[in-house]
Amino acid sequence: MDVKENQENDQSSKTISPRDLPAVGATIGRPELAERARLVGEKAVVAAVRTVIAEVRARLLGDEAKQVDRAAIAPAAIARRALELLDRSGPGLRRVINATGILLHTGLGRAPLSREAIEAIVDVSSGYSNLEFDLDSGRRGVRTTHIEKTLVELLGCEAAAVVNNNAAATVVALKALAHGKEAIVSRGQLVEIGGSFRLPEIFEVSGAKLKEVGTTNKTRIGDYDRAIGPETALILRVHTSNYRIVGFVEQPGIGELVELAHARGLLFVDDVGSGAIASGSPPRVAGEPTVSEAIAAGADLVLFSGDKLLGGPQCGILAGRRDVVDRIRTDPLMRAIRSDKTTLAALEATLRAALDPEFACKHIPLWMFLNAPFDSLSIRAERLAESLRAEAGFHALAISTEAYLGGGSVPQEAIPSRAVRVDPPFPAAAPRSVESLARAFRVGRPAIVPRVEQNSIVFDLAAVFPHEDQEILARFLDFIKTSSS
Ligand SMILES: *Cc1c(COP(=O)(O)O)cnc(C)c1O
Repeated sequence: MDVKENQENDQSSKTISPRDLPAVGATIGRPELAERARLVGEKAVVAAVRTVIAEVRARLLGDEAKQVDRAAIAPAAIARRALELLDRSGPGLRRVINATGILLHTGLGRAPLSREAIEAIVDVSSGYSNLEFDLDSGRRGVRTTHIEKTLVELLGCEAAAVVNNNAAATVVALKALAHGKEAIVSRGQLVEIGGSFRLPEIFEVSGAKLKEVGTTNKTRIGDYDRAIGPETALILRVHTSNYRIVGFVEQPGIGELVELAHARGLLFVDDVGSGAIASGSPPRVAGEPTVSEAIAAGADLVLFSGDKLLGGPQCGILAGRRDVVDRIRTDPLMRAIRSDKTTLAALEATLRAALDPEFACKHIPLWMFLNAPFDSLSIRAERLAESLRAEAGFHALAISTEAYLGGGSVPQEAIPSRAVRVDPPFPAAAPRSVESLARAFRVGRPAIVPRVEQNSIVFDLAAVFPHEDQEILARFLDFIKTSSS
């Protein structure tokens, strides 16, 4: 009996021994693994191959030994499994396709950045940058010089500073301007913005004393006037971004508040929160207070988030009078909460885009989503639903929905949108239940997060980039392929 015959006998009797498993060294040289090693390092690839071989060995030695066939121990199969493992063990923080219909979803990282902002990050962080260096004089410079110019141009303020987020902006403003003194706030504006931002607690951290005036629904200018005493440093107005008090309500206008503050030698600070730049910037958010309006009305300082309506990176922007911003800039707390170069680069690019609203509507993703014509969403939804029916065999339908801004801004304003609804029963190869199908979308790469609604899955296209439609379709097709192979 020669060797060949012996092997054939082996195969027919289907007894594969752990000794038949390929060596790690024999697998690792395969081109697909070598290519991955260039991206993630050889160590990670070797570890994945070892894990796969150990798994197969364990199966061969266990009760399932009979179910392991020759194909499973071929180097190509080992390599494929290893690549799958590497795919799954990639970075935990990853890209998500946001099909929830919530444009500024705090859980999904709020505003996506523009191409220009991403390129600015790459540009300043791939090498060194002039973060705190004056190229003209060759001397030490100020971190926010670059950004300040654009903010001054965009908002009409005298000066500006940038910190980690708007919560930090509020803390540092209160600390620098009212530490050990009083700041007056209407009882109708003692907001909580998502969990840990609660105004009374922000005051405690800052060391300023909160002086509440008026009632939940009505605060008059006289209430502010009577509350002013020798300890009062400023009047703070806080935009009630994520709720509305309607009905029997009254709040003084910004003009009255500025006038009162200045007549009594106090500062007026306006936390506009979501940070619409001006009317129409971004489009479709009528009724929100704007930063430009507050500056024009004479606010000494305006605070807002960079990653809400501006559509930029996470940060808090403080814009206002030169002497007020200087007091904040020199506060020791600034050192702990200032933004890094990547944020500043992305912010500057976003602000420059916002100088031209028409350009911004084509380049800043949030503005683009807000500006998207309903008809183009409709065409995309119809096309995707049709492909899901024809190519993937799902019950899919284009429907009309309501999208929301979210991110703690403009709570009730619904934005008409279009979506694809997918109803069970699903094709045999796909996960069975609505929950398990939705989960399979979430755990893939990129993650896809749809809405789960009354026994159906809804993919709202309001915050989905047009090029992502294909990725959603591809994932549906994958379910069918993987399960049938
Ligand atoms: C969102 C918001 C904040 C908190 O801003 P972050 O950037 O999330 O820290 C504070 N105040 C108002 C009015 C807001 O809308």
